Amino acid sequence: MKKTVYFVTGSQDLYGAETLRQADKNSLEMTEFINAKSPRVKIEYYGTVKNSEQIFKMAREVNFDENTVGIIVWCHTFSPAKMWIRGLKELNKPMLHLHTQFNEKLPYDTIDMDFMNLNQSAHGDREFGHICARLKLNNEIAVGFYKNESVLKRIFDFAAAAEAFDFSNNLKIARFGDNMREVAVTEGDKVEAQIKFGWQTNTYGIGGLAEEIAKVGESDAIALTAEYARLYEMKTKDLESVKEQAKYEIALKRFFERIGAGAFTDTFEDLYGLKQLPGLATQRLMASGIGFGAEGDWKTAALGAVMMKMAEGKSGGTGFMEDYTYDLTENDELVLGAHMLEVPLAFADTKPKIEVHTLGIGGKAAPARLVFDGIRGKGIAVSLVDMGVGFKLIVACIELVKQPKPMQKLPVARIMWKILPNHADGAREWIREGGAHHTVVSTALNADDMKMLAAMWDIPCVVIG
Ligand code: MN
Repeated sequence: MKKTVYFVTGSQDLYGAETLRQADKNSLEMTEFINAKSPRVKIEYYGTVKNSEQIFKMAREVNFDENTVGIIVWCHTFSPAKMWIRGLKELNKPMLHLHTQFNEKLPYDTIDMDFMNLNQSAHGDREFGHICARLKLNNEIAVGFYKNESVLKRIFDFAAAAEAFDFSNNLKIARFGDNMREVAVTEGDKVEAQIKFGWQTNTYGIGGLAEEIAKVGESDAIALTAEYARLYEMKTKDLESVKEQAKYEIALKRFFERIGAGAFTDTFEDLYGLKQLPGLATQRLMASGIGFGAEGDWKTAALGAVMMKMAEGKSGGTGFMEDYTYDLTENDELVLGAHMLEVPLAFADTKPKIEVHTLGIGGKAAPARLVFDGIRGKGIAVSLVDMGVGFKLIVACIELVKQPKPMQKLPVARIMWKILPNHADGAREWIREGGAHHTVVSTALNADDMKMLAAMWDIPCVVIG
């Protein structure tokens, strides 16, 4: 079911019935135009609100309706903002202030006082904006004629962020094992994260997963292995190891369906009862929208799930990543991003090959994984860090590029990128801000999208490059 964003028009009782009827008619026409262009959410006209009681009632209804993810407010006429205080203090969903007008151009030959009194958002929206600023609402603002492509894009980007914010408030993260021993950046305050982001982050014994894996029927595992062989290039004769990952995929999916989890973590240091580290299985789960963070990194797992939700319907890939190694050729520096196994299929630019190789750490059997070269294009690498005094989102602007040469012996999928504006300044700022080695990389979202989400979460957002 499509989520809803309400279009609310601000006015007041002072205007005569004729002006208010016209405001209502224009607002409905505008909403229908915007809704017809909306790629994912339904934009629905709420009505024109004219006093404190109506605004308060609107806020309560929006808060209460599970399907509504946010509101758009526009003041067609003047709407004295003291009447908005009670309702805006009550509203707990994202708001976009649309500073626009029903008419694009001024009718110079016919304009009279009646026209000015009906079309005064230049005036009314400033009054409304003042109270939003005074209440420190962190709301988004879109400016310009509502039919302009740039204005529509901002409305729909807001709607996607509002939908991701709603998703975030309902997100459960399953943790198998704790964080990798001694690692700092993957730690954090899970209680504060639930207060800020809504994330319910809880642990599940790896033994429970091992039991779930043992319950997977042989025929189901064989059928899924056959599906792998159809979709990817089988570059191994060790089908038993591949089938083991098929069991993990089936078991993890069942586990997550049962507990309602949308993201998970594991760690190679705690795999008791499992033969391999989940590799191919994790790559497949990420492709179905499940967030993942390695080594117990629940912040990146959850952020990945939220960003994948926000990126739905947009072209490009989004998923878990790690800055691994560099090509430091002067003025042409590149980052090689990968992980031990778990590189998202969303980054595949070549047909993935199924390979089985020994993993040097963890002391388990050689795991199957999907290996491929990465996509290209402008993107972002995003890190969510806990600085002790609160969370901070760090966004690096990057450009994914073709790897300069084939890497035949590298047994994992990889992407490569340039740090913007240049390697030295970008990496220096990242390190100075305390950014992690784990990130969520996306070529579907941009820094503005992340700033919008950070504002909804009410956390600082640093953009680099
Ligand atoms: Mn890692």
